[in-house]
Amino acid sequence: MDWAAAEALVRAVPPGGRVLLICHINPDGDALGSMLGFGLGLRQIGVREVQATFPGPPEVPEPFRGLPGLDLLVPADVADPAPDLVICFDAASQSRLGELAGRLSSAGAALVLDHHASNEGFGTVSLVDPGAAATSVVAEELLTRLGVVLDPAIAECLYVALTTDTGSFRFAATTPAVHELAARLLATGISPGDISRRVFDTRPFGAVRLFGEVLGRARLEPAAAGGRGFVWTFATLEDLARHDQRPYVLEALIDSVRCTAEADVSCVLKQTTPGEWAVSMRSKGAVDVSRVAVTLGGGGHRFAAGFTGRGTVEQVVESIRDQLDGALLGPGA
Ligand code: 5GP
Ligand code: MN
Repeated sequence: MDWAAAEALVRAVPPGGRVLLICHINPDGDALGSMLGFGLGLRQIGVREVQATFPGPPEVPEPFRGLPGLDLLVPADVADPAPDLVICFDAASQSRLGELAGRLSSAGAALVLDHHASNEGFGTVSLVDPGAAATSVVAEELLTRLGVVLDPAIAECLYVALTTDTGSFRFAATTPAVHELAARLLATGISPGDISRRVFDTRPFGAVRLFGEVLGRARLEPAAAGGRGFVWTFATLEDLARHDQRPYVLEALIDSVRCTAEADVSCVLKQTTPGEWAVSMRSKGAVDVSRVAVTLGGGGHRFAAGFTGRGTVEQVVESIRDQLDGALLGPGA
């Protein structure tokens, strides 16, 4: 982790220079929160020309529409084509940057902030800490080194990022340092109750009914993954249309599937176009799902990973099932 090099890249932005912040496609709380929090921090230290963007449709998922710093966002197609510095958040590979991947080379310099073990290693300088619970942990440390003082707006962004990626402090990456960071963020006066209700506990009634249907068709395969069990379900564009719902409501679905006691591995297939699926996988510890994801062209963390699946539901599920035995972790792994 070359903090000094990262700090130097940011400080090298000339007065009046332009910085473009980018994150991965279908941005989640960590991608948006760390990006916007960092952007607000840059503004605080006098960087005026800051834009933030993400690939794909310029639609912010409803749970994140209350985030501070949304005014930094611009649609990808009008984002600065050649900024002095581009900073990339929470993306393990250039492919996750879609049409924005070219900015890594068209910008004067590229700084990468991430926490995926599967990070491919790109950018002029990259700060990738696979031990960090969220990209926001890396972002906060760099902000502090740059002399930024946490204010409530920056803190709210980073808090959303931290709570979404740690499952509200439930996942294994929740170290004492994570709670210390949370304490620093809360000390700015932000309201964790309001933030959590907005981000985690609010969804349209149509989504409640949609979840009912999609969960009702879940399948349990107790013999898969060396007998550790595999549970999966899927949601089609038709399902979304029938309940008049946007795709992002499906991001919470995996949490209702992965609680299955009889399965170590859980999976949700979310149709993105006919014949194409955004696949989310989770493991309780017996299987390295990032290995499965990387084999199938995606990436992620050991116990939370994903990829783009092609074909029918059964074909995609079979491709996963086939990889599970080979991704079993031995004792002590
Ligand atoms: P989620 O299931 O929440 O979308 O993603 C879980 C993890 O897998 C995240 O860390 C995310 O970055 C990674 N991931 C999900 N989908 C993809 C994908 O299509 N490609 C890659 N490289 N990583 C993915
Ligand atoms: Mn993340």
